[in-house]
Amino acid sequence: MRLKLSQRVLGLEASPTLAITSRAKELKKKGHDIVSFTAGEPDFDTPSHIKEAAIRAINEGHTKYTPVGGIDELKEAIIERYRKDHSLEYSKEEILVSCGGKHSFYNLCQALLDQGDEVIVPAPYWVSYPPMVRLAGGVPRIVSTDEKDGFKISPEELENAITEKTKAIVINSPSNPTGAVYSHEELKALVEIAVERGVLVISDEIYDKLVYGEVESVCAAGVCEGARENTIVLNGVSKSYSMTGWRIGYALGPKELIDAMMRIQSQSTSNPTSISQWASVAAISGSQQCVEEMKREFKKRRDIMVDGLNSIEGISCIRPHGAFYVFANVSALFGRRYNDRVINSSVEFASFLLDTVEVCVVPGAGFGDDRFVRLSFACSEEDIKKGVERIREAVGLLR
Ligand SMILES: *Cc1c(COP(=O)(O)O)cnc(C)c1O
Repeated sequence: MRLKLSQRVLGLEASPTLAITSRAKELKKKGHDIVSFTAGEPDFDTPSHIKEAAIRAINEGHTKYTPVGGIDELKEAIIERYRKDHSLEYSKEEILVSCGGKHSFYNLCQALLDQGDEVIVPAPYWVSYPPMVRLAGGVPRIVSTDEKDGFKISPEELENAITEKTKAIVINSPSNPTGAVYSHEELKALVEIAVERGVLVISDEIYDKLVYGEVESVCAAGVCEGARENTIVLNGVSKSYSMTGWRIGYALGPKELIDAMMRIQSQSTSNPTSISQWASVAAISGSQQCVEEMKREFKKRRDIMVDGLNSIEGISCIRPHGAFYVFANVSALFGRRYNDRVINSSVEFASFLLDTVEVCVVPGAGFGDDRFVRLSFACSEEDIKKGVERIREAVGLLR
């Protein structure tokens, strides 16, 4: 048999960042002392009260199918949390629990998009948005934002990007990769336009708990009249509670859309893992002290990383207000060379760092901006200091 794959999967682009991270892993395995700034997840252990809730769930026999869209106890915990944190009222029919925030977004695309429908995606964006939109037949309409605007899309830019095919806009605040956080006013201005133009707001708030005191994270569903009915909020436990492996995400939005997403889920994964759902109840309704501790640590590391990078000639970055990434501008180094090697892109800069000083960063190309590299501070303070000094040394080699 000659295997012929679908056009759908053939059209899925390979991640340009994968090559570098897998090379770094390879070197590490061979014993090289690699400093890696590539982590897309907190480096902390899942808090023990959450793990205990999972063990209890197993012992109590919560090991069977649950309702497709999640257990009532978890939906109630989510409802309570949105009431308390954002003064928003949701009912159980307006919530769908899925196998991670990524799965929530995937279900949404499948339930919402027809061939040719456009989704506005501000760049820099999370690498997974465009492929998931395309897998559903949609067309990601990338709108570049600028560092001087704090990597935020303006109302005018949104207005100009809307066509008669526009179905939705993705807002990710706090953002991966830039750490940008939209203020209430900024978000309101965008959501008002979306409401007026009948464009759904997809608000990915997976990092909403991880902000560092300069600004608050705002839920897009509560910013103005009509916002709640016009917004689907995506969230999950992966980042806030260091639970990436447990695979629990959730969506809050209009009942009709949630129901459609649930039908997609019912014919693909069915319910997310029963045990993880019970652990998530403990995470969301238990003490939030663990989040505070993680935040304190992240903030300290962020400042060391930002100050260190900004003290290197040719590299600059703005201080991210949320998430755990620094998006550093390295374009001032473009055109410089080391031996017969010329640096002209984020990928070339990242491979240069790996080859010369064994530091691994993620090229910005995969996030839609080739002038930058992403550095995660979900690693030890010691690694941050060591890695930054190595980068300084590498940049010093460039002529
Ligand atoms: C990590 C992440 C998610 C969701 O991750 P899951 O592990 O699938 O819950 C969603 N959006 C962004 C921007 C992320 O960085």
